[in-house]
Amino acid sequence: MTPEAALLRVIHCLDRARESGFKTKAFVRALDVVRSTSLDEIERRATRSTLTDLDGIGSSTAAVIADAVAGRYPAYLAKIEAESGVPITAGGQIYRDALRGDCHVHSTWSDGGAPIEAMAATAMSVGHEYMVQTDHSARLTIAHGLNEERLAQQLDQIEAINQQFADAGDDFRILSGMEVDILEDGSLDLCDEMLSRLDVVVASVHSKLRMERGQMTERMLAAVTSPHVDILGHCTGRMIGKRPPSDFDADAVFAACADSHTAVEINCRPERLDPPRELLRRAVELGCWFTIDTDAHATGHLEWQPLGCDRAAECEVPVERILNALPVDDLLAWTRRPR
Ligand SMILES: [Zn+2]
Ligand SMILES: [Zn+2]
Repeated sequence: MTPEAALLRVIHCLDRARESGFKTKAFVRALDVVRSTSLDEIERRATRSTLTDLDGIGSSTAAVIADAVAGRYPAYLAKIEAESGVPITAGGQIYRDALRGDCHVHSTWSDGGAPIEAMAATAMSVGHEYMVQTDHSARLTIAHGLNEERLAQQLDQIEAINQQFADAGDDFRILSGMEVDILEDGSLDLCDEMLSRLDVVVASVHSKLRMERGQMTERMLAAVTSPHVDILGHCTGRMIGKRPPSDFDADAVFAACADSHTAVEINCRPERLDPPRELLRRAVELGCWFTIDTDAHATGHLEWQPLGCDRAAECEVPVERILNALPVDDLLAWTRRPR
C-alpha cells in the first residue's frame, strides 16, 4: 500500500463514519502534502522519523504514512476500518443484495469531495454495475452547480472514462445525469436540449423550502410530471434535527409520480433519510417506483445504502419497484419509456 492509498482509505472510512471534523481535515491535509512531495523524500523521512517536520503532517498521519512505507498495514487504518462499517438489518440486506447501482452521486465537478474516477472505482468496489453522475445544476451556486457548458464538458469526460472501463474489460458504466434544481415556479434549472441528452435526471427542491403548501405542491407537481424527470430527489428537504420537512400535498405529488413514472428517491444520507416513514408508506400505497440512493459527496458515502435499505424494509417497499435494482439496460429503457 502506498502512503497515498493508505491516506485515501483512511479518509474513505472517516467519511463513511460521518466523521466530519478535524480528523478528516488532518488526513486530507496530509494527503495534499504527500501528493506534493517526492516519494523519495517521504520514504527518507519515514525511516528517520522526521515526517512531522513537514507542515501538515501530525503524529497520527505520520504513523499511517510510516506504516505504509515500511510495508505494514497501517494500524490506525485497521482500527478505523473495523469501527466504521455501516450496519444493516437482515430485512435491509435483502434490498441491498438486489441493488445494482446508485442513481444520485456528486463529484468535484460540483460540491463533492472526490473526482468521478474515484467515485466510480468505489462504486465498483461495493459491487455496483453502474452509477449515475448527478452533480448540481447552475442555480445552486453555493455548490458550484454546472451550467450547460460545464455539463457538456462533463459528458465528454464520462464518455472517456466509460471507454477506459470498456478497454480494461470492466463491467461498469457511468450513466450521465444531473441533480437539477426545481425552481420556484416548478420549472427545471436546465434547458430541454441538455435534459434530453442525459440518461437519468434527478429533480430536487433546494430553495424556498418553507414555501406555502399549495404553492409547493404545484411546484413539485410541475417537476415530477415533466417528461425529462426520472427521479424526485429527497422530497421533503428535511435535515433531521435541523430543518423540518417542507409542507406539500404528498398524496397528490406521489400519485403524480406513480402516474408519470417518476421514481421517489429514498435518500440514504443519515441526516436526511427522506422521505420520512409515514410518507414513504404512503408512496408505497400509491404505487410509486423508488430508488435507494446515497446522494454521496465522498467515496465513503457510497457505503450508506444500508440506511435506505433498512428504511425500505421497514416500510415494505416492493423490491420489484426499485429502479436501481434493475440491470442497466432495463433502467435505461425505463427512463426512456414514453410518459
Ligand atoms: Zn439535493
Ligand atoms: Zn444531491
